Amino acid sequence: MRDFVYLAPETLEEAAALKLEHDDKAIFMAGATDVIIRMRDYLIAPDYVIDLKNIPDIGGITFSETEGLHIGALATMTQIATNPHVLAHYPYLAQAASLVGGRQIRNRATCVGNIVNASPLADTATSLYCHDAVVEIYGLPGKREVPIRDFILFVRKVALRPGELVTGIRVPYLAGAKGIFRKIARRNEVDLSTVCGTVLKTNDGWRVAMGSVAPTPLRLLKTEALLNSQPLTDALIAEAAALAATEVSPIDDVRADKQYRLDIVSYLVRDALTNLR
Ligand SMILES: Cc1cc2nc3c(=O)[nH]c(=O)nc-3n(C[C@H](O)[C@H](O)[C@H](O)COP(=O)(O)OP(=O)(O)OC[C@H]3O[C@@H](n4cnc5c(N)ncnc54)[C@H](O)[C@@H]3O)c2cc1C
Repeated sequence: MRDFVYLAPETLEEAAALKLEHDDKAIFMAGATDVIIRMRDYLIAPDYVIDLKNIPDIGGITFSETEGLHIGALATMTQIATNPHVLAHYPYLAQAASLVGGRQIRNRATCVGNIVNASPLADTATSLYCHDAVVEIYGLPGKREVPIRDFILFVRKVALRPGELVTGIRVPYLAGAKGIFRKIARRNEVDLSTVCGTVLKTNDGWRVAMGSVAPTPLRLLKTEALLNSQPLTDALIAEAAALAATEVSPIDDVRADKQYRLDIVSYLVRDALTNLR
């Protein structure tokens, strides 16, 4: 790993100013489970690493029915997977967080880092997509909010402007929602998703999101429209499962080939609908 300067700001203003000053030569770090691996492998070589962990008030998880769930930028996967509000109202998100890496990774890795890293296979993303989560951003000009679907733009590309950082993610509460998160990987433990996905049954209809099947996580809007157009029957489940595979564009890679991923998308949709009906 190349030498770098470690910076540990204690306020949001300081963090944003440092990033603005050093721009592409600097990188933010939270749990460091992506940053350090990429630095070790010389995929990135920043001159400055800006550690966010000393900034107060950007950790923690809060919930109310009106405000929904708030996941602070420093909230770890372990905290999400064990939080009583997440378990009660967003159990599929808790499940997704509980399947990220191994225990040591989950004790460090943040959900915000998982989203800003913008890998198509980020395990927490599909549940957040189903809830139309909102990414809270801080920069020196002020705060702004971006829907998660507009935040993740491409593989490792997000809608942050120079100097901006993410302070948290707001996940609207959907009363009565029931959902399922599934992760298909080559091994049951400590492996990246070959395909992952969340299917949600809400009072307003079905929501379906898949990961590792396109450059970004995806909401399957045609499949949702079909499901929301008529009562759920065995025939509709079969039709939706087939349609879902036409909405994704997976690639062949070391974990699986394209056809396997297409088959898994259909399987996940069929399985989740059958279990949630
Ligand atoms: C062994 C291992 C297994 C893993 N298994 C999985 C897995 O099963 N599923 C999965 O989805 N991921 C997995 N990962 C990837 C990783 O753990 C997650 O992506 C993690 O959630 C990243 O969070 P972090 O806090 O460690 O981010 P960091 O590494 O600190 O940062 C990741 C990226 O986000 C940026 N960033 C972080 N916080 C902020 C912020 N507040 N504002 C702006 N930018 C920010 C950083 O600059 C960097 O670009 C694994 C990693 C390892 C090493």
